[in-house]
Amino acid sequence: MTSTEFQDPLVQEPDRAGGPLGVLVCGATAAARTALINRLTATSAPDAGVPSTAGPALRLEPGPSSRRAVRRFNSTRRSYRLVDAGELQDAAGLVAAASECDIAIVLMDASPAFSQGAHRPIVLCALLGIRDVVAAVDGAYRQGSDSAEQERQEHELRAFGAKAGLASLTPVPLSIERNENIAAKSQALPSSRARTLVDALDWVLPAAVGDEAPFRFLVREVAGSDGPSQRVAGEVLSGMARAGEEIVLAVSGRRARIAEVTRHGREPGEARRGQATTLVLEPDVGAAAGDVIAHATRRPEVSDQFAAHVLWTGEEHMLPGRSYLLRMGTRETPASVTAIKHRIDVDSMQHLAARNLHRDEIGFCNLATAAPLAFDSFAENRPTGSFTLVDRISTATVGAGIVSFGLRRATNIHVEELIVDKPARALAKLQQPTVIWFTGLSGSGKSTIAKRLEKQLHDAGKHTYVLDGDNVRHGLNRDLGFTDADRVENIRRIGEVAKLFADAGIIVLCSFISPFRTERRMVRELLSQGEFVEVFVDASIDECRRRDPKGLYAKADAGKIKNFTGIDSPYEPPEQPDLHLITEGVEPDFLVGQIVAHLRAGGRI
Ligand code: ADP
Repeated sequence: MTSTEFQDPLVQEPDRAGGPLGVLVCGATAAARTALINRLTATSAPDAGVPSTAGPALRLEPGPSSRRAVRRFNSTRRSYRLVDAGELQDAAGLVAAASECDIAIVLMDASPAFSQGAHRPIVLCALLGIRDVVAAVDGAYRQGSDSAEQERQEHELRAFGAKAGLASLTPVPLSIERNENIAAKSQALPSSRARTLVDALDWVLPAAVGDEAPFRFLVREVAGSDGPSQRVAGEVLSGMARAGEEIVLAVSGRRARIAEVTRHGREPGEARRGQATTLVLEPDVGAAAGDVIAHATRRPEVSDQFAAHVLWTGEEHMLPGRSYLLRMGTRETPASVTAIKHRIDVDSMQHLAARNLHRDEIGFCNLATAAPLAFDSFAENRPTGSFTLVDRISTATVGAGIVSFGLRRATNIHVEELIVDKPARALAKLQQPTVIWFTGLSGSGKSTIAKRLEKQLHDAGKHTYVLDGDNVRHGLNRDLGFTDADRVENIRRIGEVAKLFADAGIIVLCSFISPFRTERRMVRELLSQGEFVEVFVDASIDECRRRDPKGLYAKADAGKIKNFTGIDSPYEPPEQPDLHLITEGVEPDFLVGQIVAHLRAGGRI
């Protein structure tokens, strides 16, 4: 990649892999971005050192951007890879695109307040580790445009870039339609302002990245054991795989040596980022699909708690405490946001307090995962520093995350091995600990049935306990109200308490409206197979309103109670409850009998 032009210190190749410089193209519309990318590639200079892949054909690169169009183009000074950021609402795609880029073009239409509209893409670029931005202001010098006003806005834009944490922001007025000031200078501009977009890109000197990225390898498949060694197939996520080097399995810390690096049946001895590779590890340390392998002296963090910026894209707002599926590489684990530290207002850059995150909002959050993960901070190593969040019911992607730092080392947490364990406690009580979870509208009959069932079990010598609104809302959860966020947290805490009771060997009867499927499923997952019995106590809203044992419907209908389930707050009925009891016109004792029969049939009592 040496050509005489590359000796200018300004145009040294700063990209960590030594390849072309990645440029994220974001902002405006898909059509405008494509038009700009076409203009740039059409002017691409032939380059002696770099085979030009510019031109009409789209190049599809392997790795995280495999479904994203990437175009190469060369200026006379260096070569670039242009990566379309896609729509900013597609946070997961944006994070993947940005993780290959060092600088960005933020495209904006020269509207009367263009600097305003650029705030969001600029903040996103800064969060995504891009420190240098060229702001392409399309149509900025159309006839009649006021150049003093234009300059004021450019100044404002620069100031905003600095506030967002960028190292440089260079506004360039241009016209895509007339192909002016992109590669060739425009006559329409005063010569003092006639820096072209290509000049502006060439002038950016991205922050030097000193070290080679750390070696990270994702195991996709165990290809077999060969006597004392193990063959694993997977992908180099970052850095280099080199034969002879010491590695560790990131989570377990077990050590081995790379005995061989093979690709397509050959043995090149090393492999780079994005390459599908087979490693032979000696000795066989029992690597499994989904494991991350790292260099022994540069290990990733391993934790089940970390802090991250979350870009929320879900239709429904994000609720702390709710269980989502976190995807990092090919690994998936249930996760929840344990705290929103703050939300970032993209216009003022202020940190605001937030109890939940709405669509398109950015929050700085603490997250907890069900299993420890190996990761790096996004700033240190982008391929292993991001994740997506998936809704567990709809399976839609609802957010993307950028890891800041781990909150504690999972390897330091040892669950105390207690001599008296759950089976021992259960045996002492001669029973199977079970959580019987009653869900349904207020007044459907949950408490009535739970209390009668408890009496019957107790009379039969069982050790029981009822958790309900009366003993939980007044104590443990007295700080919680009835907003969606509070309802999620309410059920999360009750689930954890029920789990402890079950661990103590008790049969726990939980009587809570528990309106959301996701939280009921979360409680189910806290317990082992068969231990959670979901009972849907079903009565129509009209019947509940007619019964109204506590006069709550009358108050809610009169507008005196807000967020009342079934009236102005939703109830999601179970899709597959273990038992579905219709309580209209049926005696409670008969229903209790049905539950007892179910518990007997399942061997719980
Ligand atoms: P929840 O705990 O679901 O809010 P409650 O058990 O407090 O409901 O109240 C239910 C009301 O409905 C009580 O007044 C109860 O007497 C009445 N009821 C009538 N039929 C039934 C039935 N089959 N099962 C349970 N409750 C019934």
